[in-house]
Amino acid sequence: MKGDAYLKCIDPKCGLEYSIENTNVQCEKGHLLDVKYKNKPPSSLKEVFYKRRNSEGSIFNESGVWRFRELLNFCQIDTENLEECSKYLVSLDGAEGRQSKPYRMSKAAEFIGIPNNNLWLQPEGYNPSGSFKDNGMATAVTHAKMVGAKKIVCASTGNTSAAAGMFAANEGINCDVYIPAGQIAPGKLSQAYQFGAQIIEVDGNFDDALKQSLDDAQNHDGYTVNSINPFRIEGQKTIPFRALEYLNWKVPDWIVYPGGALGNTSSCGKALMELYEWGWIEKIPRIAVINSEGASTLSDLYNGEFENEKLRWNKGNPNVELISRYYDHLDKEGLKPKTKATAIQIGRPANILKGLRALEFTNGVVTTVTDSEMLDGMSVVGLNGFDCEMASGATVVGIKKLVNEGTIKKDDVVVGILTGRQKDAMIPVDYHKNPENKFAIPPRN
Ligand SMILES: [Zn+2]
Repeated sequence: MKGDAYLKCIDPKCGLEYSIENTNVQCEKGHLLDVKYKNKPPSSLKEVFYKRRNSEGSIFNESGVWRFRELLNFCQIDTENLEECSKYLVSLDGAEGRQSKPYRMSKAAEFIGIPNNNLWLQPEGYNPSGSFKDNGMATAVTHAKMVGAKKIVCASTGNTSAAAGMFAANEGINCDVYIPAGQIAPGKLSQAYQFGAQIIEVDGNFDDALKQSLDDAQNHDGYTVNSINPFRIEGQKTIPFRALEYLNWKVPDWIVYPGGALGNTSSCGKALMELYEWGWIEKIPRIAVINSEGASTLSDLYNGEFENEKLRWNKGNPNVELISRYYDHLDKEGLKPKTKATAIQIGRPANILKGLRALEFTNGVVTTVTDSEMLDGMSVVGLNGFDCEMASGATVVGIKKLVNEGTIKKDDVVVGILTGRQKDAMIPVDYHKNPENKFAIPPRN
């Protein structure tokens, strides 16, 4: 239905609206944008989604993203018309999100200290490029194709560039990946190289690389696919959709994510706000975000550890000056985000305001864990026969920490998201060589 989908500034005092073909990632006053829908999808679609699990040969039913296409129909197509789907929707032959669903992991539950029946962990690393990014890249590249973009552009040190490169190769469009020169181990970019992306080295840090990628996208007809792009957020809504569907739309008490750029927190919040507004769910799960201790911007601000003020969305009136002062403080003190979990080594989370909105809507919490705790979390997931990256270990030990301090009750139902697959082979090797580590199985002769 044309005219149903549009873009709207998230700041309620600004509220500027744009047509769905707009490619700016911010409103003209520099605020983030939301994709909005005028129509309320009927909850009878739950049956349709369930039936599509028997794909009957359609890659758009097979896809864990496009199976829910009525809830992200910014292309405004007839979603039952497979010809229209083929013309508009970008997919890795239905593979994005296909293997993602919540699993039981008894050893992780035992380590955390909650009943096995109350814990679900959902690995997003089993996406084609190895991380949750394929969910949002399917929708962002769909929008890029809709507006006729010839080139997608991102700043990345790993997972984003892999997903962007893979989708670009599949669609036959170009992909530029901006990186801070000399700061990224070449191995972390091996997937981007493999998929034929053009790596562009920028003098400075990651923030500088992102800034240049945004400038170049604007000035040279590129299309930005970092998570400040609101269409990325649309695809990432399917992460909680799949979890909720698997639980027969019986809402858990908690959904737990590692916290980096906060695209996941933002998309989970938006998904829940929409489902609640549409009457699909009656209860709102609480979101818990787990920062690394070495990259704890959200936790510091949310928990009042900077200037003793607890930063809140505050119904659309967040204290943005507090955020600016925090960033100035980081610069002045020369504080740089530092953790071995590079996927969440982010000092200035691009989606912080959408993240705060999600936390306010869900009465969320934020906490931090150490690198050594994350490695234990990652390793106990491995002992259940699942593979995840170090940042995903934050989810497991974050749940454990929140259970121990009584924030998560032992009879609460918890869904934890494992965001990516292990891409740094030496992290588990080094972990297991050291017999001091909790789950280490050192080699023997
Ligand atoms: Zn605005």
